[in-house]
Amino acid sequence: MRLGLVLSSLFERHEMPPGHPERSERTRAVANRLIESGLADKSIPIESQQVTREQMLRIHSERHLAMLESIHRAGGGQIDPDTHMGKHSWPIAMLAAGSAVAAAECVAEGQVDRAFLVVRPPGHHATPDRAMGFCLLNSVSIAARHLLATGRARRVLIVDFDVHHGNGTQQAFWEDPSVVYISTHQWPLFPGTGRREETGQGQGQGTIFNLPHPPNTVPSAIVEEMRATLERVQETLPPDFVFISAGFDGHRADPLADWRLDVGDFVAMTRDTLALANSTAGGRVVSLLEGGYDLDVLADCTEAHVRELMRD
Ligand SMILES: [Zn+2]
Repeated sequence: MRLGLVLSSLFERHEMPPGHPERSERTRAVANRLIESGLADKSIPIESQQVTREQMLRIHSERHLAMLESIHRAGGGQIDPDTHMGKHSWPIAMLAAGSAVAAAECVAEGQVDRAFLVVRPPGHHATPDRAMGFCLLNSVSIAARHLLATGRARRVLIVDFDVHHGNGTQQAFWEDPSVVYISTHQWPLFPGTGRREETGQGQGQGTIFNLPHPPNTVPSAIVEEMRATLERVQETLPPDFVFISAGFDGHRADPLADWRLDVGDFVAMTRDTLALANSTAGGRVVSLLEGGYDLDVLADCTEAHVRELMRD
């Protein structure tokens, strides 16, 4: 299995205020682990690249981009209590989104079979019109829409197992039947969306699957519901390309939430997603790092996830 990998110290240049959980050490810890474990050497490097304005505008509004650009010109600043831009955050967010586009193209064109991106800032909370929850640009949504707009995919599935609901991703594809979105997340928790009744609207009705679970849910219930939902999507809405919003903050040791998942639970959800991708999408999967705030656990989970992505 040829796994493409986006790994660059540039993502550490998106600097957050001291004490912020979404810190530069996150991608450094993951990169170090992938290098030390030998997994980086077994993968095929994908060059990170800037997203284009056209690609961003397929998801985000002019107003949103103008707001981020103006904060960047001012040297950075606070967007909301959680979300901050440093001096380099704007070009680095564009690098994360552009790398997602590049990785998706590499997989779509068969240069690699699957890809994983060690990127930050994360993206799934960024709505078409708003930066929030540590997220500036919705990288996974930009990459998914790029494949559809350029005729490289006809129906895309985004599987989001980050412990927070990907409200930005849901909003981007709320009325879009060509993107199926499955999110499992703790509820109640930030950002407060992701109820079961939220299933899309208009032509997109029935293409959004929200699987909320309360704090301290037994992990097998989360994994099994994800498996059942993947099987249902495989039958009724088979995708020809799959993305994973890979957040590992549902781990029992993570400081930001109250789920009790373990490395093995993330491995199980990865395997089940790959099984669907192998059956309907020619195995084509691009996975992007979203959350995960305990550095050791983040490295453990990412290493295990990447090992699965590399398996035949
Ligand atoms: Zn999260």
